[in-house]
Amino acid sequence: GTAISVDGVRKIYDTGRERTEAVSGVSFDVKRGEFVAILGPSGCGKSTLLMMCGGLESITSGRIDIEGVAMTQPRPSIGVMFQDASLLPWKTVLENILFPIKILKRPMAEYTERARSLIDMVGLHGFEDKKPHQLSGGMRQRVAICRALVYDPDILLMDEPFSALDAITRDEMGEALLDIWEQYTKTALFVTHSIREAVLLADRVLVMTRRPATIVEDIRIPFGRP
Ligand code: ADP
Ligand code: ADP
Repeated sequence: GTAISVDGVRKIYDTGRERTEAVSGVSFDVKRGEFVAILGPSGCGKSTLLMMCGGLESITSGRIDIEGVAMTQPRPSIGVMFQDASLLPWKTVLENILFPIKILKRPMAEYTERARSLIDMVGLHGFEDKKPHQLSGGMRQRVAICRALVYDPDILLMDEPFSALDAITRDEMGEALLDIWEQYTKTALFVTHSIREAVLLADRVLVMTRRPATIVEDIRIPFGRP
């Protein structure tokens, strides 16, 4: 079935002094279980599109349905991960990962077990009680992935998840993400300006341009993931 349906979506930012057409009419579908990259240059509207998919930014016109329901506000069944890990500095790794559960007032004991298995999966065993400042950039991004997955979301949305990392850490992160992928086979949509990242991780790449800010190519990666 269709997990994400984006239909004629436009976004205009109007600051009063300036009007920016950030997304100029974008349509695509993501099937359940697909891992899709949106690839495009800086400023072409990728983040805006992803934020609209996550219900974090309003849609000027058009429509986004996720699992058949119009996307108008954030949902716990949609995990979002940003470019900077944006962890809470005074909380430990485990507390950061469980933070969405606390906010949603779900049973902590049940999700603590899941959080611990995610921590193991991304190779952070033994770091549960460390604070973000005690971790490297790559480790913090792995914590952010765990946090995005702790509520067992149907869909994972990621905004340039590796762009702040060096090349070696990026490859490690990519592997961690593929491991998670195999275990949970989630639907994922991520935006990137890196062709390498798109081709290595995704099984389909949507190419976006700047003016107009729209998708111009829809490419299936023929050899699949390693
Ligand atoms: P990308 O993620 O591809 O770099 P963005 O979605 O961040 O692109 O930005 C697309 C365009 O929208 C850019 O011209 C950017 O300056 C503008 N933009 C992004 N966010 C805002 C905002 N909150 N207010 C006004 N303009 C914005
Ligand atoms: P950065 O994001 O700073 O480039 P990494 O995430 O690759 O770096 O990690 C930097 C340092 O942290 C390395 O010395 C690495 O050995 C250590 N490190 C990373 N992950 C782990 C782990 N799971 N266990 C122990 N040490 C780790």
